[in-house]
Amino acid sequence: MKFGVIALQGDVREHIEMLEIAMDEFGIEGEVVKVKKPEDLENVKGIIIPGGESTVIGRLCEKFGLLNKIRDLVVRNELAVMGTCAGLVLLAKKIVDARVGEVSQPLLGLMDISVVRNAFGRQRESFEVDLEIPEIGSSPFRAIFIRAPLVKDILNDSVKVLAKFSGKIVAVRQKNMLALSFHPELTNDTRLHKYFLNIATGKA
Ligand code: GLN
Repeated sequence: MKFGVIALQGDVREHIEMLEIAMDEFGIEGEVVKVKKPEDLENVKGIIIPGGESTVIGRLCEKFGLLNKIRDLVVRNELAVMGTCAGLVLLAKKIVDARVGEVSQPLLGLMDISVVRNAFGRQRESFEVDLEIPEIGSSPFRAIFIRAPLVKDILNDSVKVLAKFSGKIVAVRQKNMLALSFHPELTNDTRLHKYFLNIATGKA
């Protein structure tokens, strides 16, 4: 079974390693590929859009024809997607920036959420917190926030809120899409990568 990580910018290697460990823990045979162009998505069941800089990842995805290809596959339910941090921004239908307000940048625009970019401040205001995410178990998940976005509004009932931090939505799922404000790939807790594998294989 094949999974992929968009490998144009951002923390790619960490996600590849986490997916490999999660697959191993589940006993899933297969491989994790770097996705840089539409052909790389062949037979891929699920992809991760990593954290990084959403403007850069979005522009490069658009340039290489990945935005349209990913949209088609996800809408046809042939591909699951998990976006972390910048990846969550790219999945959103609506975005604003906490400082500059309205912004225009290429997006996948697949999830019925409105998102505020850079909602928790700058790089030096990065922080870690224990989050309750009942969907993946009762013990808290150590979440690392780095220039993180938050989900301001849910625009459709099919979006499920998975976690909040001080009243702000930081993890959501809609059908075959999972979006997180924080960076699970920077911990060694594979539960969210495993949850994503379950979504991608129709088990969750
Ligand atoms: N602030 C970045 C953006 O909006 C995301 C930061 C991150 O992925 N760590 O693109």
